[in-house]
Amino acid sequence: MAIIVQKYGGSSVADADRIKNVAGRIGRTQERGDQVVAVVSAMGDTTDHLIELAHKISAAPAPREMDLLLSTGELVSCALVAMALQQGGRPAVSLSGGQAGIRTDAAHTRARISGLDPGRIHRELDQGNIVIVAGFQGVTDGADVTTLGRGASDLTAVALAIGLKAQRCEIYTDVEGIYTADPRLVPQARKLKEIGFEEMLELANYGAKMQPRSIELAAAYNMPVLVCSSFVEAPGTLIHGGTAMENRNKVAGVAADRNVAKITVLGVPDRPGIAASLFEPLAKVGVSVDTIVQNSSVERLTDLTFTVTRTDAKRALEVVEPVAKSIGAKGCVSAQDLAKVSVVGTGMQNAPGYAAAMFRALYEAGINIEMITTSEIRITCIVNEAKVPEAVRALHTAFQLDKE
Ligand code: ASP
Ligand code: MG
Repeated sequence: MAIIVQKYGGSSVADADRIKNVAGRIGRTQERGDQVVAVVSAMGDTTDHLIELAHKISAAPAPREMDLLLSTGELVSCALVAMALQQGGRPAVSLSGGQAGIRTDAAHTRARISGLDPGRIHRELDQGNIVIVAGFQGVTDGADVTTLGRGASDLTAVALAIGLKAQRCEIYTDVEGIYTADPRLVPQARKLKEIGFEEMLELANYGAKMQPRSIELAAAYNMPVLVCSSFVEAPGTLIHGGTAMENRNKVAGVAADRNVAKITVLGVPDRPGIAASLFEPLAKVGVSVDTIVQNSSVERLTDLTFTVTRTDAKRALEVVEPVAKSIGAKGCVSAQDLAKVSVVGTGMQNAPGYAAAMFRALYEAGINIEMITTSEIRITCIVNEAKVPEAVRALHTAFQLDKE
C-alpha cells in the first residue's frame, strides 16, 4: 500500500460544496487502495481577511499573535474536510500542523521547517484513517504555533510527502497544471505534461503560481509533484527530476511577475566597499534585493540600480537614502510600476540566439526594456507593468510555445 499526499488549495475548499467535492476526491483515492494524507489551505481568501482584520486592530501586530491568528484559517478547512469524509462514512481525522509533527524554528510568519515526526500520522493511517493536515503551519520546540509564509501549504505537502516516504505529492488547484504561459493572458498557452524541477523553480521564482520553496524542497529530495485541477478530471503536469524530455521546445515557458519596483542610486563613487555599505543595511531589515545592475564607471562615478518587491520599496528607499548621502552619491530615484517577464528553459543552455530573439520580440511589440538579467536557463527583462500582457503574448509566439 502506497502513501499518497494530496494538497487542496484555498479555492478548492472555498465553500461547503467544494469541501464535499474535495472529500469525494480524497475518498476515491483511498478506494484505489492507497493511504491518503491530505493537506488543506484556508478557505478562499480567509488568510487575506484575517490579515486585514489584524491591521484594523493594530498597525504592527506582533508576529507571534499573527501566527496564531492565521493558523486558524487552515484549522477550519481541515476540520470541515474531516467532517465531510466522516459524513460519507469514511474514517478520518484532522490534525493541526503541530499535531502532525511539523516542527519549525521560531521565525514567526516565515518559519522554516526544522524537523518532522511522522509518528502520529503513521498511527492514524495504520488504524485506517484518512489524515487531513492543516497546511502552512507548525510548532516550535517551545510549543508556539508558527506559519511558514504565504502560499506555504504546498511546502507542508511536499515536506510530509518526503517525511512519510510517499510515492508522490499531488497538488490540486484551480488550474489544470503548469502552462507555457498564464492562459488568462495567452489563450493559446499549452498545458505541459511534465517539467523538470530546475525549470519549474525558475518559473515559480519569476511569477508562476507555485510556491518556490516547495519546489526547492521537492528537488532536494527528488519527490515528484503532480499539479492538477480539483474541479475537472484532466491529466495535470508532473514536476520531476527525470530527463525524459527530448523532442520538446528549448523554452519551457514564459512567466511574469508584476510585483517589481526599482531603486537607482545616482553618481555612486567607484571605490571598494560601496556596494557592501548599500546592501548590508537592506539585508539587516530583511529586504531582499533582486536584480542588481551596476555599470563600469565613467570618471569614477557610476549608477547602481536594483529591484525589490513593490511591497518593500518604501522601506528600501528609507534605508538606502541616508547611506547614499553618507557615501557622497548624487541621490536616489525609484519607480514602482515595473514587472519582470522571463523565458525559461534548460534547452537554452549553451545555445546562442535566445537573448537576441527575446529582445527582438519585445522591440517588435514596441516594448522598452529597462533592465536585463539572466541565469543559465532564464532570461528576464524588466519592463513597464502595463506592457505585461503584450510582452508575454509576443514572447509566447516568438518562441513558438503554442506548437507542441
Ligand atoms: N492560506 C495560506 C495563504 O493564503 C497558505 C496557503 O494558501 O498555502 O498564504
Ligand atoms: Mg491561500
